[in-house]
Amino acid sequence: MLLLVDLDNTLVDRRAAYKAWAESRFGESEVRWLVEADRDGYERRETLAAMIAARYGGDERQVLTELRAGMVANLAPDPQVAQVLTDATAAGLVPFVVTNGTVAQQEAKLRRTGLDRLVAGWTISEGAGVGKPDRRIFEIAAAAAGIRLSETGWMVGDSAEKDIGGGHAAGLRTAWVALGRDWPPGLAYRPEITGRTGVAALRAVIQDTVGRE
Ligand SMILES: [Mg+2]
Repeated sequence: MLLLVDLDNTLVDRRAAYKAWAESRFGESEVRWLVEADRDGYERRETLAAMIAARYGGDERQVLTELRAGMVANLAPDPQVAQVLTDATAAGLVPFVVTNGTVAQQEAKLRRTGLDRLVAGWTISEGAGVGKPDRRIFEIAAAAAGIRLSETGWMVGDSAEKDIGGGHAAGLRTAWVALGRDWPPGLAYRPEITGRTGVAALRAVIQDTVGRE
């Protein structure tokens, strides 16, 4: 059974890695500004680098390079994530990463955290030529995993619009990684499962899968 999974803030703690980089590079007092400017990774990297260069001085391209390297360097393998992915595979699920971003950056994160050896593969928006929530990236990922998109498959992620909205529109069941947030009001879709963290959401998906057998 297909288990599509988001990367940032679902399988890796991108938020913590960014904060750690921000604090080590610019000091604790600047973390708040840097976190706001980052918009949880949704600000374009080039725009963020330009904002940082404008505030602290320096060359935008140099800042962008440092930012990207810093994000990877501050990630580490997470044994709980490794365990839940191993358990998912044992339960007959095929974990496959679907992420928006550049190929070089997202692959560096996958390798740094050892996730490259724990998932069946990955589809990255830059390489696919299309990003979440577009249905086509889910189709490309399913084809790469060798499994047809169907209502028995899952999409798990922390973005209400990109992961849950996109997965729902692609005909998948969905699990949302809430990270302490409430589900946004006014959306036409809802996740089947909500977990506080990526690990919790994946645990619930495994339980659902095992329970249906
Ligand atoms: Mg995410």
